[in-house]
Amino acid sequence: MDSISTDWTAAAAAEHGATIALRRAIHADPELGLDCYRTTAKLKDALAGLPLTIRDSRSTSGFVARLDGAKPGRTVILRGDMDALPIHEDTGLAFGSAISGHMHACGHDTHSAMLAGAARILCARRDAIAGTILFMFQPGEEGMAGARHMIDEGLLDDPAPEAAFAIHVFPNVPGGIIACREGALLAATDTLAATIIGKGGHAAMPHDTRDPIPVACEAVVALQAHIARRTTFTDPAILSITQINGGSAHNIIPDRVTIGGTLRTLSEARRNDSRVAFKRIVSGIAQAHDCTAETNIEPGYPATINDPRAVALVRACANDLLGTDAYHDIPAPIMGGEDFAFVLQKIPGAMAILGVAPPEGDPAARPPIHNAKMLVDEAALARGVALHCAFATRFLADGWA
Ligand SMILES: [Zn+2]
Ligand SMILES: [Zn+2]
Repeated sequence: MDSISTDWTAAAAAEHGATIALRRAIHADPELGLDCYRTTAKLKDALAGLPLTIRDSRSTSGFVARLDGAKPGRTVILRGDMDALPIHEDTGLAFGSAISGHMHACGHDTHSAMLAGAARILCARRDAIAGTILFMFQPGEEGMAGARHMIDEGLLDDPAPEAAFAIHVFPNVPGGIIACREGALLAATDTLAATIIGKGGHAAMPHDTRDPIPVACEAVVALQAHIARRTTFTDPAILSITQINGGSAHNIIPDRVTIGGTLRTLSEARRNDSRVAFKRIVSGIAQAHDCTAETNIEPGYPATINDPRAVALVRACANDLLGTDAYHDIPAPIMGGEDFAFVLQKIPGAMAILGVAPPEGDPAARPPIHNAKMLVDEAALARGVALHCAFATRFLADGWA
C-alpha cells in the first residue's frame, strides 16, 4: 500500500484531550491482576462506535480490537497493558487513586490510554489503510502473565500478526525521549525459594543441634560468589536473596530457615545454568553441614528480546516524527521483566521506552516506576500515541524494508 501521508503528531495533538481524560479516569480507579473489568469498560467506552471487531479474553479482562483496513495487506499488533500495583499512592494528584493500596505506579494507565488514542486516530483513517491492525489491551502484566493467557486462548492468531510493538513509559527518562535497543531489552525472571532443614534445640547447646542459620548465611554468600566468579559480564545474571526467615526466640535454634529471592538473566543458557547452580550450591552447603535443603524455582517471564528490524523501524519512526535528537539507543539491558516477552517469542517486534519525566528538575532523580510518588508528564503521551500510529502504518506499508 501507499504510505499514509498523515501527520501523526498533529493527529495525536488533536486527540490529546481525550487521551488525558481516559488516562486520568483509569489512574483514579486502579485494578490489579487479571481481572481489570472496570478498566476494560472504560477502554471499550472510549472505542465505542469505531469500526473495530472486539474479541474478549475468556480467562482475563483483556480484549483484542481488530481494525481491518479498506484493503487487504499485512497484520501488525500494538499492545498496551492495563493493570496497577499494590502500592498506596503518595503523589497528591487531584486524580490520584481512589482505591486505598492500589496505584498505577508502572504507567499502565498511560499505556492503555495511548493505545486507545491510537486506535481512534487509525480508525478515522481506515480508508487509507491496507492491512489489519490488532490492538491488544492486556491485564495482568505485573506477575500474572496476562499476555501468555491471551496467547494461549488464540487471541493473537486471527489473523496472525507479522510484527508486534509496545511502548513502556519511564518517569526518570527525559520527557519525550524514545529509547530502544536491539536484542535483550529486559530480563527473564525466576522466583527462588529454599528451605534449609537442620535440627533445633537450645541456643546454649548448639552441639546438640544442626543449626540452619549459619548454613543459610553461608549459602547466601556462596550464591553471590557464584554470580561474581562464574558468570560473564557479556551474559550476566542477577541473583538477589531478598528474604531470610527463621527462628522464634533468642534462646532457640530453629529447625529450619527459608530463603527467597529472584534470578534475572538474558539468555536461556545463563538462565538454565543459574537455576542448576542455585540448587547445587544451597543443597551442597546444607549437606556439608549435615543439614538438608529443599529448593524450588518458579519460572517467571522470559527475556524481552527486540528484533533488530523492529528496532530500526522504531528508530525511523522516531526520527521522522520527533527529529533525530529524540531517539536514544539504550546501552545495556534493564534487568526488570515484562510479559510482552511472550508476545515477542511468537512475533518479531520491539518494546520501546518513552521518557515521561516532568520537565522541571533532574529527570534521573525522579521517583522511578513502582514508586508511590511516580509522576508522568502527560504532554509526552501525545508522542506515544503518534508513535503507535507510525509503527503500525509504516509496517503495513513497507514491512521490514
Ligand atoms: Zn511494573
Ligand atoms: Zn510495566
